[in-house]
Amino acid sequence: MSQHPLTLHLAAVVGVGNIVADPLGGITTNVHGTENVFAAADRHGSRVLLASTSEVYGRSDRVPFREDGDRVLGPTSVHRWSYATAKALDEHIAFAYADRGVKMSIVRYFNSYGPRIDERGYGSVIARFAAQALGERPITVHGDGKQTRCFTYVSDTVEGTIRAATMAEAIGGVFNIGSDREISILELARMIKRDLASRSEIVLEPYETHYPKGFEDTRRRVPDVSKAQKTLGYVARVPLDVGLGRTLDWCRTTYRVSLAS
Ligand code: UDP
Repeated sequence: MSQHPLTLHLAAVVGVGNIVADPLGGITTNVHGTENVFAAADRHGSRVLLASTSEVYGRSDRVPFREDGDRVLGPTSVHRWSYATAKALDEHIAFAYADRGVKMSIVRYFNSYGPRIDERGYGSVIARFAAQALGERPITVHGDGKQTRCFTYVSDTVEGTIRAATMAEAIGGVFNIGSDREISILELARMIKRDLASRSEIVLEPYETHYPKGFEDTRRRVPDVSKAQKTLGYVARVPLDVGLGRTLDWCRTTYRVSLAS
């Protein structure tokens, strides 16, 4: 490991819900924040790890997504795409500073989850389904539920982050950090209901009940993990049923308390 300072830039406005609720806040925080971090890193000679997102691939249908693949985004009138745009601009900032000599690497996360997910925070789908199942409320699947994601257990996300942040081979690179186990949201709802032995009904809801009109979802989101494996020796190790089991155990204890109060 290097003796030089290391900056892990993980701060951002995240979550599609937060972005569509305050698009301007999301854009300025994500872009100015990253500019500030890189300017400071440049002044102080620090290496930087930038946490980016699989959202940058947008709705590309070139699945699995390769780091050097094209990005496909919807129109600028749909706020959702401002997140992908702002985070991609963050990546451009990182590459521009790399040209100035800053050592940097970038990770793109794929739906990270684990204990301490917050149902009242950015509202990731696992947290929402767990809270609904525990409260015996309907489990709300958006659209037809056939959209897919690859959920990555937090210890795997952390491992990939540390490797990309510290290994010499990672400098100047972008890496997908995630599991490539693809699951539909409807199947996820069924797993969570089963694990929690919940009597909740699984209901399909139009996107408009949750997001502004004109909202566009990503249908499939799957990483190509070969670059991270080859360059960083990284593979996500925790299977979904194991990670989900640990996460739901935590939710069972914690959410029950908040549901009761
Ligand atoms: N989703 C859902 N019901 C919910 C919350 C989310 O069906 O109550 C869906 C959402 O529409 C998306 C997927 O679950 O297709 C993942 O959503 P999340 O916000 O966790 O992350 P995203 O992948 O959209 O960044």
